[in-house]
This record gives sequence, C-alpha cells and structure tokens, in this order.
Amino acid sequence: MDKLQSLRGMVDLLPEQMPLWQRIEATMRAQFERAALREIRTPLLEVTELFARGIGEATDVVGKEMYTFLDRGERSCTLRPEGTASVVRAALQHSLLGQGPQRLWYTGPMFRYERPQAGRQRQFHQVGIELLGFADPRSDAEAIAIAWDLLSALGLGGLSLELNSLGDPSDRAAYRSTLVDWLQLRQEQLDADSRERISTNPLRILDSKNTGTQALLAEAPQLIDSLSDASRERFGAVRRCLDALEIPYRLNPRLVRGLDYYTHTAFEITSTQLGAQATVCGGGRYDGLIEQLGGASTAAVGWAIGLERLVLLLAQAQAAGTVALGAPAPDLYLVSRGEQAECQALVLARQWRQAGRSVELDLTGAAFAKQLKRADRSGAPWAVVIGEEEARQGVVLLKNLRRSADSPEEERLRPVELLRRLGDPSI
Ligand code: ATP
Ligand code: MG
Repeated sequence: MDKLQSLRGMVDLLPEQMPLWQRIEATMRAQFERAALREIRTPLLEVTELFARGIGEATDVVGKEMYTFLDRGERSCTLRPEGTASVVRAALQHSLLGQGPQRLWYTGPMFRYERPQAGRQRQFHQVGIELLGFADPRSDAEAIAIAWDLLSALGLGGLSLELNSLGDPSDRAAYRSTLVDWLQLRQEQLDADSRERISTNPLRILDSKNTGTQALLAEAPQLIDSLSDASRERFGAVRRCLDALEIPYRLNPRLVRGLDYYTHTAFEITSTQLGAQATVCGGGRYDGLIEQLGGASTAAVGWAIGLERLVLLLAQAQAAGTVALGAPAPDLYLVSRGEQAECQALVLARQWRQAGRSVELDLTGAAFAKQLKRADRSGAPWAVVIGEEEARQGVVLLKNLRRSADSPEEERLRPVELLRRLGDPSI
C-alpha cells in the first residue's frame, strides 16, 4: 500500500529538532513572566466572520489564504490564520477588559494557504503579545522592547527594527486620497495586483513585492507627511522612548498595515539571514480593532513572531558557534536482559524517575552489546546494567560511560546506593 504523507505545507517537528524549539519556548516564557504578561489560549477554529472583521476582507490573509469550510451544522468556520482577532474576541467574550487593561501573550499553530518555501508554511507557529487598554506611547515602546529583548536573549544578531507611523484614521483618509490620486495617474506602470488594489486597499500597494512597482513608489507621497501635529508628536514620543531604551531603528515610510483599525505605530523586525522571508516579527498599534469586534473603543498594541523563522535563525547561529545548545541526554540508560532482570529494570526505572532522575529504559531485549551501544549513543553519562546474576543478587552494575580516568569503569551496587552515589558531587 502507498505510504500516507502529511499535507503540503504541514510540517512534522521531529525529536531532533525539538531542543531548538524548547529553547525558544523556555526563553519566551521566562521573558514574558518577567514582563508581567499572562498567557491566554484560544481555539484553533473560529467563526469566519471574526477574521473577516478582525483582519479585513481586503487583505491577502482573508482574501486568499484562509482555511475556511462549513462544519456539519453549516456554520462557516476558519482555522485561525493569526492570533490577535481571537485574543480580542476572548477578552470581549469574557469581559477581561472590565478587570482593567490586559497584558497577554499567546503561542500556537496558525494556518494560511500559501506557497510553501523556506520560512513559509501552511501550518506555522507564532508567539505574540497583546497589550489591551494601553494608549500611552510608552506602551508601544514597551511592546517593541519585549520583542527585541526576546530575540536578543536567544542570542540572535543581524536584526533590524523598522518603524513607521500610520497616524489616526483621519490622517490615513487624507493620505489615502493623496496616494490614490497619485497612483491613478500612473496606473499603467503598476503590476496587475497593485492596479486592482487602488480601489480596494491602496495602502497595501506600498507593501508590494513587485520590483517595478517598488521602484515607482520610491517617488510616491509619504504617509508621514500627512500626519496631524498630534500624531506626529505621538510618534516623536515613541521614538524618544526607543532612544532611551537604546533600541536602534530605521524609519521605513512604506511599512503599512492597510486597514483603518491599525493606528499610529507599525513596526517589523527583519533579519538579513532569512532570504526572501526576512520578517521575523510584525506588529503595531490597533486602536480601532476592539470596537470593530464589538467592544468599546479601546487602545491596544501587539506583535507576532514567526517561530519557524526564529528556529531557522537559531539553527544558523548554532552552526556558526555563536549559540550553544546542550543535547538533552538522560541521566541513566538502563540495560537489562532476562525475564527477572527486565522486570526489575522496569520497576527501578520508575522509582528513579520518581526520585527525579531522567531514565531511558531499553525495552528491546537485544543482546547486552547492542543495548550498551545504544546507551553510548544516548549521551547518558551512566549505564545501569541488570543481568540474571545481578537480578538474583539484588544488585545493579553501574557503568561510567564517560570513562574519566579517576572514576572506576564499573561498580556493583544495591539500587538504593545508586541514587546516593549519583547525588555525590564528586562523581
Ligand atoms: P509575510 O510578509 O512574510 O507574509 P505577514 O505580513 O503575512 O508576513 P504577519 O501576519 O505580520 O506576517 O505575521 C507575523 C509573523 O508570522 C511574520 O513576520 C512571520 O515571521 C510569521 N509568518 C507569517 N506567515 C507565515 C507563514 N506562512 N509561515 C511561517 N511564518 C509565517
Ligand atoms: Mg503573509
């Protein structure tokens, strides 16, 4: 029979890859705890309307990339393509904002029907934070600092922060009409996708990956010139906070999010080491979103980091020797052969685990030599061997797999002595 394969763009994470993921997960949990953020977990499946309203119909994500289907009750459901809309829905559904502003983080798989390539999958993972109910420019800077420090704590270099301000909805409306006028005069020089966006989502044209369009846009009017004095002052305050935090940034007037509920600060953190998929982190302020999803008008700022891209960067750093990851090895590898010995090994493995040791129990029943070879490969510093003779005498054979010159090659002990022996710092 043919072997079954995973769906295109849906990726298995194999045990040998997990140390990198676990390093990232442990680092982010520690950072978030220190920043007084609280975790929230929401369902993978939501009503489609949540994303239509919470991301916007005119975006690629909603227009082209969602996994949407009717469930058995004929409801239109969508596998979440991102986290923010769900977090806001949950905050509203459970009245979290009634308890005051919320500092939240989430992580988990997201789904987008895109063309898979390095750093781009159909099921991928994000970690993100959402600061709900914060309007002060310091909250923009704090959100950025949390992302920046997470990436730094992982030992990643070669990152740059790009920053822009989208102003408030009236600044944007003014800019949109200026831009549309300018684009309409140059329609024939635009790529087909961008031409279509003039009427649907003109700001997103600034984001186009088409090189001809990019060259043309170098001359386009800039959003920053349409900002009101108040918006400009606010952006200045965010920048002064970043300066005080000594977080370097580059202004990128073409960094946009095309929808009205995105306001003021928009930012991305990119890496020079990721090829075409250069953006590791994207975020910004979305003061209009909570109202858009049925809540009271509430200021908010957040970001999301793509974990696959982080893993790629960390793997590169590891290969270059700038980040070291210890291989996870058990404390003990337990080798046994013969009915009584095997049964004892099963019991002892459990006891030693209960006593806090990590134990890999060889369950193959293979010849001792084979089991010992696997013990060596496991990376465990110690093998514990139980044969029929040991089982009868109620002892185990402790073998030093590191074979350092001053500790004995092997030693016969009672199981209770073994834990004491391993707890001795001199070995
Ligand atoms: P891109 O321009 O790379 O498509 P995006 O603007 O669609 O990114 P966001 O929606 O802002 O990305 O998501 C935040 C982050 O999630 C991205 O910066 C990226 O690191 C990651 N990401 C987005 N889509 C994918 C994907 N299909 N596979 C892997 N990571 C992704
Ligand atoms: Mg995308």
